[in-house]
Order: sequence, then structure tokens, then C-alpha cells
Amino acid sequence: MKASSKVQYWLPRILAQLPARFQQGKMPYAFFFALTVIGVLLAYAVLSPYPYASVIFSLFAAFLMGLLWRVHRGMSLDLAVNLATGLGACVLLYGVWVAGGIYSPRLAWLLVLPLTPFYVIGRKAGIFWTAVVLALQLLTVAANHMGWITPFETGMAHVLSSFMTYALVTCVLIVVPLMYDHVYREALELGKSHQRELEERQQELMHSAQMREHFIALVSHELRTPMNAILGFNALLLARLGDKPEARKVLNHTRQSADHLMTVINDILDYSQLQAGQLVIQPETFELRKTIENAFELFLPRVKSMDLVYRMEIDEGLPQWVHTDRHRLMQVLVNLLGNALKFTHQGRVVLRVQWQNPGVLFSVQDTGIGIPQDRQAQIFSRFSQANGDIQSLYGGNGLGLAISRTLVHLLGGEIDFESKHGQGSRFWFHLPLAASAAPSTQEHTPNQLLHTRSVPWRFLIVDDHPVNRLLARQVLKNAWPDSVIEEAGDGQQALDVLQTKAFDLVLMDMVMPVMDGIEATQWIRQQLPMPAQNVVILGLTANVNPVDLEAFKSKGLNDVMLKPFVPEHMCAKVEHWLLHRG
Ligand code: ADP
Repeated sequence: MKASSKVQYWLPRILAQLPARFQQGKMPYAFFFALTVIGVLLAYAVLSPYPYASVIFSLFAAFLMGLLWRVHRGMSLDLAVNLATGLGACVLLYGVWVAGGIYSPRLAWLLVLPLTPFYVIGRKAGIFWTAVVLALQLLTVAANHMGWITPFETGMAHVLSSFMTYALVTCVLIVVPLMYDHVYREALELGKSHQRELEERQQELMHSAQMREHFIALVSHELRTPMNAILGFNALLLARLGDKPEARKVLNHTRQSADHLMTVINDILDYSQLQAGQLVIQPETFELRKTIENAFELFLPRVKSMDLVYRMEIDEGLPQWVHTDRHRLMQVLVNLLGNALKFTHQGRVVLRVQWQNPGVLFSVQDTGIGIPQDRQAQIFSRFSQANGDIQSLYGGNGLGLAISRTLVHLLGGEIDFESKHGQGSRFWFHLPLAASAAPSTQEHTPNQLLHTRSVPWRFLIVDDHPVNRLLARQVLKNAWPDSVIEEAGDGQQALDVLQTKAFDLVLMDMVMPVMDGIEATQWIRQQLPMPAQNVVILGLTANVNPVDLEAFKSKGLNDVMLKPFVPEHMCAKVEHWLLHRG
């Protein structure tokens, strides 16, 4: 073992035996150093041949012991070191004075005096005490010059005491930097191990974030896929029922429950995306009034059975076209209206939209149960409800307002509310909207009549779920009764069919066994001969992550539709692409 590593092996073990106060930071080293100095002083008290030396050195040693005791009881280390160094300087000056002044071997001790403040307190204290030492040396030079100092003496006693001075100073000069080096290494090791720990934590966090995203994507797919069939068939049945009010009522209930379930699923997915910073705003130009009316009218069926005034007041001056994320604006409006209706049993719920040039102020006022003053600060926090009974009485997950607030912020606006317990609430949000030019080409609206109804289009539906294939088939057949529809259970089967038959449009599910929709699309675009290579491919996915959706499009899909889809929307999109084929 090398000498330095021996020191590094033993030092910590010895230091661990010290009283608690001397075990932290630089304390152990200061303690060890003080003990050494006390030992040296006691040796000098016995060996020194000079007058009063034994008294002076013993007193100084006692003073140092007293200081150690004071530090043990809580005195600051810096103060103790300064006091000890100051008294040490006086004692050394005495030693130098009686032993030959500038010729005295005791001067060696003066040289090491600033070491302790330098290493224990800091650079400034070290420099200060170095200046003091230099001044004392100059003083001795002056004293020698004036003849005030006892001349330098020779003899065996002086030789021994000088040797002891030089030997001890030499040791101190080696040991002190070694100790400092040890402190430095220890701090470095500690820093490194903290960094390693932080890196490990970061890895773990990244891993769990990835797992969470994966889990959300999976859940999103798994939940939305069956919802696609439930909502889709429900819409188909409703369209066919005609004048059977009882059956309509039942189907409407199913529809409402399924819609509610979809809201919960979407809330949870939205919230996790917001957490992961993945929720992206997708602005479009749309008619503001229509969107507000849509949101308002969504609740009309529910209000019919309630004893409530449900009103909408829209400012006449509101711009017709605006540019923002229509879907998200609708989501916030629906959430505020839904809450107002949920928590209001009598009186009124009023939706007001005011043009503030610039910007639009939306507010939803109700005469409902209100929110107690002491709960108002938390109401926008996630999973927060006004009190414990809300969940059992009204349901809900406490996410709606947290999501709404983030969405309004993402849209560049602000949201707030005022509420009086037992009297009602007014939730409002302001969006920095400006009048926009009307878009040049209008997208198909769901209710538009299909122009291509009688064309015998050839469709290929690719989906691994037979129920989904059935639903898509029904929707397409309803819209285009003369169409020819084929089905494939995965991407590989789709390729086989496409190699033998021509199609006008392929509806392609994204997640499938054997070969998924992305791979199949790439194959079609790269490997199939013309014109099969150019067939229109509409992707169907339950994945709502906008980053993934963009990635899908870049792989060769003409467009992507989210599941669950509204049948009319799907038909409008299909027709759009049939008419705009390359
Ligand atoms: P949820 O309605 O699903 O519980 P929200 O985040 O939308 O979640 O609302 C959080 C809480 O804020 C509600 O549980 C309710 O206590 C309170 N709250 C929201 N809107 C109103 C309102 N219009 N009147 C009274 N309380 C409300």
C-alpha cells in the first residue's frame, strides 16, 4: 500500500471516532491539527530553554484546549481558527524575540501559521494571515536592527529545539496539503456519486415516461376500437329507425352513455398527453358561431328533461371566421357547459360570447350549487373537486377544468371563474381571436349530399377486427349502395388482394397482426405496379397522438381518420378523396 493510500485508509477510520460536532466537513481536520499543535506546545513547554517558555506554551496549549471545548459546544470554527491564529502569532513572536529575532529557527513556525486559516476558513483569511506574518517578520528585522532582541544563542539545547522546529514544520507542510487533498477527493467522489445517482434517476424517469406513453397508446387503441363499433352501429341503427320513438329513446340512452364513456377516455388520454407535453394545437379556419352553437346544442336533449332556462347570447359583432383549434375550443365550451348543467338544479345556465375587439370572451353563468370559498383555489388542479360528496353525488373525475385551463393556455388565452357557495358560478375564458378570411375551399360538411352515390366504387376494407370491418362495410354500403366491397384481415392479405384486383379506395387499419397498416402502405407505394400503386389509402387509427398521426401520413397514406368515427364524416372524407384522386 502506498503511503498516501495508507493515510487515506486510516484517516477516515480515526476520524469516525471523533465527537459528532467534529465529524462533518473540515471539522475533523481542524480538530486533528489543533491536537498536533497542542502536543507540540507541550513538548516545547518542557524542552524550550527560554525564560517563561514553559508557562507561555502551557497557557497557549490550555487556550487551544478551551477553544476546542467551545467549538464542541457550538462556537463557529472560523472564529476559533482566527482566535487561535492570532494568539499563536503573539506566542511565536515571543519565541522569535527571545531566540535571535530574524535569525531565530522559530521563524519557521511563523511561516506555517497562515496554513490553517487558508485551508480551514478560505483564501481570503489565508492571505490576511500571510500579510500579518510578513509584517511580524519586518518587525523582528527592525527589532534586530535597533538592538532590542536577545542575540542568537548556540549550545546543545538550542540545536535540539531548532531541529525539532524544522522537523515538525516539515511534517506539517506535508500533512496539511495531504489532508486537504483528502477532503477534496472525498468531495469529488461525493459529487460523482451524486451525479451517477442523478443519471440513474433520469434514466429511470425516462424509462417510466416511455412505458407510460406506450401504455397510453395501447389503452387508447384498446378502448377506442370497441367504442368505434358501439358508436358506429348505434348511429347506423338510429338512422334506420325512422318513426319508432320508444326504440329511438333506448338507442339515444345507449348513445349518451357511450358518448359519456368516450369523454372519460378522452379526458384521461388528453391529460396524459398534456403531462407528457405532447398535446399539440391544430389550428384551422372555421365559423365561430357555428361551433358555439354546436357546443350549446349538444346539451339540448339533456336540458329538455330539466326545469332550467338554458340560453345562449352571442354578440352580433362576432367575426364570422376565426383561426384556432376548433376541436379544443369546442372541448372547453362543452366542459364548462357540462359542469354548469351538472351542478345546477334550478334557475338558469347562460352561455355568453362577447366580441372584445380584439379577442373573444366566452362565459358560462349558472345559478347552481356554487363552490365554497376555501375550495376555490384548488378547483383547477387535477383530480380536484369542491368536496368529498361531489364524486358520490355528481360523479366526474376532477380532470375537466385542469384540462380546460391547459387548453386555453395553449390557445393563448386565460381562464378564471367567480363563484358564491349556494348561489352559482360564472366560468369565463378569453381567447385572443381575430377575424379571419374565409377559407378558399370548404371541406365537405357531414350533412352534404353525396354526389357519387350511384357510382359502383370498389372498396377494400383492411382491419383485423371482424366487427370493425362489418361496421365500415355497412357505412359504405349505406352511402354507395352499388359499391363493391372486399375485406382483408391484415396487411399481407390486403397486398394479395390488391395484386389481383383493382380498387378505388382502401380503408386501412393501422394496428394489425402479421403486417400492420404502415408496412402494408409502404409495400403498396413501393412494390405494386401502376395503377394499384396509386390507390387512395385512408388510414384508420385509434391512436390520437398528433406526432404519430403525422408520421402515418408521411408513410404514404392519403389521409388519416380517428376511431371512433362519425359515419357521415367518414363518407364525406371518402367521397372527397374519390373525387380528388391523383
Ligand atoms: P369534474 O366535473 O369531472 O369533477 P372538473 O375539473 O370539471 O371535474 O371540475 C372540478 C370541480 O369543480 C367539480 O367537481 C366541482 O366541484 C367544481 N365545479 C366545476 N364547475 C362547477 C360549477 N359550474 N358549479 C359548481 N361547481 C363546479
